[in-house]
Amino acid sequence: MREEEFGTVPSELQTICPLCGGSGMVADPKLAIIGGVPRTVDNGRPCPTCRKDGHFPGLIPPV
Ligand SMILES: [Zn+2]
Repeated sequence: MREEEFGTVPSELQTICPLCGGSGMVADPKLAIIGGVPRTVDNGRPCPTCRKDGHFPGLIPPV
């Protein structure tokens, strides 16, 4: 019996960022010429919506 597991409900609700899915990074594919061969490079970039947090404080309904 571990009674402390009942106290795991977060007191503060957070909304996962819909743009990056909570990772804080979004895909950013670019066409690059590497060694004379065109290919797609995806280094990703910081999510502009949540500023890399991956979530917002409180509940934000989907727009
Ligand atoms: Zn985000």
